[in-house]
Amino acid sequence: PDTQNGVTFDEVFRGVQGKAVLDRLRLDKKVAYVTGGGQGIGRAFAHALGEAGAKVAIIDVDKDKAEKVAEELRLKGIQSLALTADISKPEDVQRMIDSIVSKWGAIHIACNNAGINKNSASEDTSLEEWDQTFNVNLRGTFMCCQAVGRVMLKQGYGKIINTASMASLIVPHPQKQLSYNTSKAGVVKLTQTLGTEWVERGVRVNCISPGIVDTPLIHSESLEPLVKRWLSDIPAGRLAQVTDLQAAIVYLASEASDYMTGHNLVIEGGQSLW
Ligand code: NAD
Repeated sequence: PDTQNGVTFDEVFRGVQGKAVLDRLRLDKKVAYVTGGGQGIGRAFAHALGEAGAKVAIIDVDKDKAEKVAEELRLKGIQSLALTADISKPEDVQRMIDSIVSKWGAIHIACNNAGINKNSASEDTSLEEWDQTFNVNLRGTFMCCQAVGRVMLKQGYGKIINTASMASLIVPHPQKQLSYNTSKAGVVKLTQTLGTEWVERGVRVNCISPGIVDTPLIHSESLEPLVKRWLSDIPAGRLAQVTDLQAAIVYLASEASDYMTGHNLVIEGGQSLW
């Protein structure tokens, strides 16, 4: 019997174009970028995409960090490029997209990962803190999605993966992160909306929501004291390491996930279900 696409079930079972499942996870000849690639989760994403075969542009507001990670990739034999950009500035976002296209001719994988975390009690949250958080986490992610989306829609192909957070779903107690939590909930809705709007034209948009990941971000003065308390809220019994997220970014960047769009992939050791 034929499936609705005129392909036999046996052919489907052998895999897309005869490719085995692990081959469908390969990213050879793909061009990727990672914002906030200079450290933490973004750095781990950049290594994972490069190891899977992609060329990777490392984008960070911190020039030295971006260059260091680009060099780490080169030492592994991965083609890489360091770009300095503040994703809350529209001119920086357009410049980073243009630079990648002019160097490598296309962008297939966009990891909009850069984000910031401010902590204050809700009654004390200033408009300045609110605006700073939203300008990077939500407005910046939107600008990156739109600028790279225009390139991908023309190509008829693209994978956008935004970094949201478990805080988009639950309110981790006793964190004081009104602006962070609401900005990340916005990232999920942005992902769902673009993911359904663009999929027919070949562009999939998904997001990853990590739980508490052991990166420099959580070792800030305000968050450090909470880390011990959170540990008791994580069924898996430990914080996430950046390596816990690496296979997920490769999957969402690859053709193996072509039927997924608008999805929020939660990786939090069970914490949001507790
Ligand atoms: P991090 O602070 O360790 O690294 C963030 C990187 O982004 C830094 O290199 C920083 O220079 C860069 N950056 C910050 N603002 C930028 C801007 N405006 N333009 C370009 N680059 C910028 O953070 P992380 O823990 O690796 O977090 C990465 C992402 O994951 C963020 O969006 C964060 O909200 C999200 N996240 C983190 C955790 C966690 O527990 N660490 C949990 C859930 C979600």
